[in-house]
Amino acid sequence: MNDIERCISLFENKAPLVALLAPSFPICYSYPLIVARLKKLGFKAVIEVSAGAVKTNEQVVALLKKNPTARYISSPCAGFVRMVRKSFPALVPFLAFAADSPMIATARMAKEQYPDCQPVFIGPCFAKKLEASEDYPDLNILVLTYRELDAVFAHFTVGEDIDASGAAFDIAAAATRIYPMDGGLTVTSGLKDVLKEEEIRIISGYKQIPAVLEEFQRNPKIRFVDVLFCEGGCINGPGIISTLSPDERKKRIADYRQSMDAAHL
Ligand code: SF4
Repeated sequence: MNDIERCISLFENKAPLVALLAPSFPICYSYPLIVARLKKLGFKAVIEVSAGAVKTNEQVVALLKKNPTARYISSPCAGFVRMVRKSFPALVPFLAFAADSPMIATARMAKEQYPDCQPVFIGPCFAKKLEASEDYPDLNILVLTYRELDAVFAHFTVGEDIDASGAAFDIAAAATRIYPMDGGLTVTSGLKDVLKEEEIRIISGYKQIPAVLEEFQRNPKIRFVDVLFCEGGCINGPGIISTLSPDERKKRIADYRQSMDAAHL
């Protein structure tokens, strides 16, 4: 059974589910229509994963403040973590696993608020399936990409022709809505107030990663490397179907953030 079939089966068996929607969603869906469609499918609640990213940021900043000489490499990107484990095992101890990824922090939030519901993470990334199943099996997270969610929508014929009035996230967060862009963690956590510019490296795109990791090994002054495996960040994740250019994708995220800020949501 694949994850699309698994999700369909859960809905058919009336299993209580809560959706965790990744912050790159505006590239593929409009708000609040996407929340209305997810509720129509049967999700009991829909949580913006940006809310978990706030926790991630707090944990990263706390780590750096608590250990003023320690050095870290960010760990929210499941693709990058697997690359480090396979190709740079000596750097595994530097991965900041004491800070949950936004998916994991949001799943923990969901377990607290909706303890009877299974979390379903919906995002741009196939590697998140490995993070959920290999690293956090106890949280029982089902991971769907946007492509896979579209197949679930199609199976239950939940289209865009539904009334979205009154639809809204059950848990939302504002400042972290730019998280899927490269440097999102550094910018939204205020890391530049904690570390000096020369102590931080921001990188996206798997081809650029080896050089930065080699620099991290050579240069002990670097205290934090903020890495995303996909070029430009999660906006280019493989689970996104879109003809939009990287700049247009970034604009979708920025426009969504601006419209939500204007509405104080
Ligand atoms: S940058 Fe790519 S591999 Fe990393 S979490 Fe985002 S979509 Fe997944």
